[in-house]
Amino acid sequence: MTMAKGYAAQAADAPLEPFHFERRALRPGDVAIDILYCGVCHSDMHTARNEWHNSRYPVLPGHEIVGRVAAVHPDAVKYKAGDMVAVGCMVDSCQQCRECTAGYEQHCLRGATLTYNSPDRVTSDITFGGYSDHIVVREEFVLRVPDGLDPMRAAPLLCAGITTWSPLVRYKIGPGTRMAVAGLGGLGHMGVKFGAALGAHVTMITTSPEKGEDARRLGADEVLLSTDREAMKAARSSFNFILNTIPVAHDLHPYLQLLAREGNMVLVGAIEPLPPIHGGMLIGGDRSIAGSAIGGIPLTQSMLDFCAEKNILPDCEVIPIQAINEAYERMLKSDVKYRFVIDMASLAQEKAAA
Ligand code: NAP
Ligand code: ZN
Repeated sequence: MTMAKGYAAQAADAPLEPFHFERRALRPGDVAIDILYCGVCHSDMHTARNEWHNSRYPVLPGHEIVGRVAAVHPDAVKYKAGDMVAVGCMVDSCQQCRECTAGYEQHCLRGATLTYNSPDRVTSDITFGGYSDHIVVREEFVLRVPDGLDPMRAAPLLCAGITTWSPLVRYKIGPGTRMAVAGLGGLGHMGVKFGAALGAHVTMITTSPEKGEDARRLGADEVLLSTDREAMKAARSSFNFILNTIPVAHDLHPYLQLLAREGNMVLVGAIEPLPPIHGGMLIGGDRSIAGSAIGGIPLTQSMLDFCAEKNILPDCEVIPIQAINEAYERMLKSDVKYRFVIDMASLAQEKAAA
């Protein structure tokens, strides 16, 4: 076991504060990683504040992790000390069921172990995430950061990236697709970048008029203000595909109306009970609503490789870990361009000062 330091919330209404804990000794196949950067996902805040009613305290969030391999168990074969690697939303799964063997570990039939707030498969201890100085992960869940990919900006790809990439691949988004992305935050801005890179016609649907210019810079062809009734009316029946990243339950009707015949809306944000929808809205236009959960390990690696090849990277604001509570408040106000990334060197400085 090694002593670790991070930032954790002790209760739903408590801020994140410095927290000392133990990381496990290396088990066969394990890799120990010194964390350099960790992105700040809205899911971190949902969990720290128990908004999904499943938090087990202390909650130590963070699932957009980039760092260097510090040590490997002698049985581990994929990585060596010094490699630049990454960890996303999962750290373990059964590796044997049909979902795991097909590369859909997030749908493991025995339940994937999430990077934080999830019971370890061996000890049942609750996992602690990436807002910390190091982490121990079995090698199957460690990704290789391709050479040339900026390690800081690569971090958000591990959740915001794969969560938006996965449905775009599944729905074969490409030239000829009229797609829209709802919510220009961490996930949404990657949805725009990926949609543009795949050759789709991309419309950004936002509640924030001031983000219009940014949306175009990120690759959107058009911007639709969801609070503008006339514009929403004019855009009815126009999209084949909507990626909906809005982080809270909301009335889906205004968005469903935007779908063309046989259009699909994929929800990734509202992981909670939704208000009822009128069946006619789906039946009338042969429309569908679907969901999508992160993405499997093979797809995550191929997304990282694609991003390195095409030089696609998130827009980030680097923060010290001491600014995490303020960052949450800003995220709540949709005031983030477009992902906070914690520079973990700030944690070491704190240690030196202590
Ligand atoms: P984020 O950075 O906070 O972005 C969300 C954006 O949604 C905001 O910037 C805002 O964009 C818009 N928005 C916020 N509140 C809204 C409201 N009440 N009505 C309409 N639009 C609203 O969040 P994120 O990190 O991208 O995460 C988005 C959601 O996805 C979170 O709920 C997160 O937990 C979830 N998530 C799911 C998965 C998965 O596997 N399915 C993975 C990761 C995250 P505008 O200013 O443009 O309106
Ligand atoms: Zn996330």
